[in-house]
Amino acid sequence: MAGPILGRLFLVFTYLNAGWLREQVCIYMCPYARFQSVMFDRNTLIVSYDQARGEPRGHRKKSLSHQQAREAGYGDCIDCDLCVQVCPTGIDIRDGLQFECISCAACIDACDSVMDKMGYPRGLVRYTTENALEGQKSRIIRPRLLGYFAALVLMMGTFAWAINDRMPLNFDAERERTQLYQTTRDGLISNVFTLSVRNLDDQDHTYQLTVAGLPSLTLDSNTINVPAGESRLKVVTVTANPDDLQQPSHNIVFSLQAQQNERIRLERETSFLGDIRR
Ligand code: SF4
Ligand code: SF4
Repeated sequence: MAGPILGRLFLVFTYLNAGWLREQVCIYMCPYARFQSVMFDRNTLIVSYDQARGEPRGHRKKSLSHQQAREAGYGDCIDCDLCVQVCPTGIDIRDGLQFECISCAACIDACDSVMDKMGYPRGLVRYTTENALEGQKSRIIRPRLLGYFAALVLMMGTFAWAINDRMPLNFDAERERTQLYQTTRDGLISNVFTLSVRNLDDQDHTYQLTVAGLPSLTLDSNTINVPAGESRLKVVTVTANPDDLQQPSHNIVFSLQAQQNERIRLERETSFLGDIRR
């Protein structure tokens, strides 16, 4: 039931995000822009406009060679605005680093294509560091980077462990509410439980059902089949010898064990009720 609802929610939000909100998602909703600024330092590779090379910007005749443009006092930026037009968040990279930048590099490709057409060297907008832009040496391997790498390895390891440790089975055991217990013709005490079993695996499973907690406990049914990704209700009767019941309520434990995979096993504790007049 939750699957189709979630699927429709994803569909609606994908349509709203991609069809209507578009760059507003990048500017106002994406957390990347917010935390990237605290991770940066002067040695971080970022998409940058080389101000020293590009300024003073200005339109010029295409016939002007690179050398002639320099002699005429022009920088390499021809002020075509293509880098702004292709930017999904609508910013001008020539204004410097801005939090809206999602480092998609579309402006790099756009500017390189302009440089090619003009016969200028590529890389007016490029991946570089603040230190490199100021003519200083960049240090790529530094403690901050090693710290990020260690944090990344830790997170990936935790994620892998969580996936590996995930139990693809869930179930609840609920006792019949209308009658606390029954006495059988043989004088035994029985409780009726409804088991709600959810198979979270991508394979069908037959589960072996057992119950423990009192020496004489028996079940009227020991297996339950649940197809992949589905859930099933099963009503089971648990019977015990009244001689074992020393108090009105005893803790008992249901166990479900997948027959096809011994790793898939789950237990649920509940209570077995007997004669409360004892
Ligand atoms: S695409 Fe390159 S040349 Fe054109 S305005 Fe942007 S930085 Fe200047
Ligand atoms: S990399 Fe360039 S095109 Fe992409 S978001 Fe940043 S400034 Fe805009």
